[in-house]
This record gives sequence, C-alpha cells and structure tokens, in this order.
Amino acid sequence: MSLKIVKKLIPVSKYAVKSYKVMKPTRIVVHNTANDASALNEISYMTSNNLKVSFHYAVDDLQAVQGIPENRTAWHAGDNLGKGNMGGIAIEICYSKSGGNKFTKSEKNAVLLIVDILKRYKWNITKVTKHQDYSGKNCPHRTLELGWDRFLKMIKTAMKPPVVTPPIIPTPPVVPQPPLPPVLGPLQPATNDCSEESDKVEQLTIELNNRDLALKAKILNIENLNKQLRVYERWAFIVDILNRIFPVKE
Ligand SMILES: [Zn+2]
Repeated sequence: MSLKIVKKLIPVSKYAVKSYKVMKPTRIVVHNTANDASALNEISYMTSNNLKVSFHYAVDDLQAVQGIPENRTAWHAGDNLGKGNMGGIAIEICYSKSGGNKFTKSEKNAVLLIVDILKRYKWNITKVTKHQDYSGKNCPHRTLELGWDRFLKMIKTAMKPPVVTPPIIPTPPVVPQPPLPPVLGPLQPATNDCSEESDKVEQLTIELNNRDLALKAKILNIENLNKQLRVYERWAFIVDILNRIFPVKE
C-alpha cells in the first residue's frame, strides 16, 4: 500500500492570504471537506480564491494533493493564532458530504498520509488531532460520525510493522550414531608378584588403562564437536532465511 502524493503548491504571492508565516509543525489536524469534490479540485479551489481558508493536504480515493508546504501555516482550525492554525498540518478528507465508497477510500488514504507524516516527524498517535479540538466545529463530521476512535485505531494499525510469520524451520534429521565401543573396566594387575614378568604386566596394564582413558576422552571430544556442528548448521540455516526475508540493503 502506498499513496501517491502530488504537489500543487500555492504561489508565494498567495502567502499573504493563505499562509501567515513559517512554522515548525507540532501536530496534524484532521478535517472533512463536507463536499463531494476530488482532492485536486479542492486544492485548485483553495488556491484560486482569496478567502482566508487554506489547508496543507486534500486526500481523496486516488491520491493526496499538497497545496501548502508543511513548514508554513494555513487557516483551517478556526482558532486564529492558536495551536491549530499555527502548528497544525491540515488534512482535508474528500467526499465526506455523501460518504460511501469514495469517502471510505479517501479516509484510508488519509491514514496512509498521516502515518507517513507521523513517521517523518517521529510523532506518536497523540499528535493526531481534529478540527473540533480547536474551535468546537463538527469537523471532521463524517469521520466523527463513523467514530473517531475507529479512525485512530486505523492509524495505529497502519503504524505497526507488518507481522512476519516466522518460517517453520525443519529439524535436521537425526543421523544415527554408531554404537560406542563397550567401555572396558580398568584392567586388574596380575597378582603374581614374584617375577620380573609381573612388573612388566603391571606396567602394560597401566599403559593400557591410560590409553583406554585417552580413547574415551577422544570419543567425548568428537561427540561435542558433532553437537557444535549441528547447532552451527541450524543457526546458519536461520541466518540464511532471515537474510532472504530482510535482505541487507547495499
Ligand atoms: Zn475542518
């Protein structure tokens, strides 16, 4: 889902009538046009007349059209030099007079525009206000009628990053391990102690026991390495999948 934003900025010569001064925006002010015209027509009309009425964006079912830069004030909130007019980015949602499908789509597009603005200014949902907050006017009339909380909910939902279902990672098949050699108990030295042979046997027994222990240690070591390898393979598999889902931008 993306929204086409067309710029049809008012000429600087119109600033005296339409845009009082430069501003650092502090909020979004939502309106309904109470009309059945397209966004392009709303902006053209706003630009062509000499009424002290202006707004930054008009949004319809197809696109958003911008008439005033976001860093300049507009006359829309009915609060004269108050926070609405002097700090608000005004968004007019089109086709609110008759409502219906075109209005539904316009509202959805307004949500996309609002999300774009919130993200650019690193604002949260509390920055989304309505005309009514500043002058008590029943505006945005149809959005209010359908439910303001519903509209805020649409924005909150659109703000959330898309939920990525974690891929099902197949467990690597368990490779059957060859049976371990039978563990030999320590060899007992011969009890015969009256000959040289006996010493040799004892010496050999000790050597054999030592070799047995070394062999056991080696087997354990190989098993550990195998385990580590399997963990590493699984991890590499996950990293590969993550890379495909979230490719690293060059
Ligand atoms: Zn309004």
